[in-house]
Amino acid sequence: MRGTFFRLEMNAAAQVGGCPVCAIIVLRTERYLRFSLNEHTLDPHLQVCLLALHGFCNLHGWWLVRIVAKMGEELGIATVYGHLTDKLSRQVQRTLSAPSPKAVAELLSPQGIRPLCEHTLIWEQDTLTAPLQALTNPQTRESAQKLCAVTDGLYLPHLRIALLMTEENIVMTLLLQDADTRMKQLNDDLEEFCRKHDYHFRDEPMSESERRSWMRSIEAVVGKHTIPQSHTKAQNNLQCEGGYGDV
Ligand SMILES: [Zn+2]
Ligand SMILES: [Zn+2]
Repeated sequence: MRGTFFRLEMNAAAQVGGCPVCAIIVLRTERYLRFSLNEHTLDPHLQVCLLALHGFCNLHGWWLVRIVAKMGEELGIATVYGHLTDKLSRQVQRTLSAPSPKAVAELLSPQGIRPLCEHTLIWEQDTLTAPLQALTNPQTRESAQKLCAVTDGLYLPHLRIALLMTEENIVMTLLLQDADTRMKQLNDDLEEFCRKHDYHFRDEPMSESERRSWMRSIEAVVGKHTIPQSHTKAQNNLQCEGGYGDV
């Protein structure tokens, strides 16, 4: 069952393109935000959380804007953010008597991690669990490698998380060999991109992967535009507390 789910997820990720974990987070985030927008309002439980946490984070807030515009659900957002701005306005009034600017800044900061940012953290681990288990098991290793090969491989942030989640040296070697091959290919494409900008060679045709190499190189290092800042902070905290293997 888990194997089937893994296969479906990897195939879905391959359709989106790029790092499979980033791709699955893109798909799940879109689904989460679409389901949250219901009948011109947001899910009531989510509304309560958002009021306490000052709405969505920067990344998910702007993601929501794109989805709301497509779905025509502006009224739901206007209602929730109406409550939020009212709450913030009262909060600002209360802070007028605070002892210092630093104290005000602290009072006005959201307390805790937002639900969607937290889901992102869990989804990353979920998504990586099945392929790591399949790579660990000698009986499923080869088929898992084939499934992973149809994707664009793990970008650096998710490669790091995968390494934190495994204690198997064989899995570490496979992950690093894969990353090395892909990084070398990307480096070749970047070199060709630069070379073909020289006027001596500018008549040579440029492949699509060479043309996109400069954008792909940014994605390869920081991941797709899917990981919220607060999440990165939580990830670092987890690492300090003993890594993902303990979660
Ligand atoms: Zn990724
Ligand atoms: Zn967020």
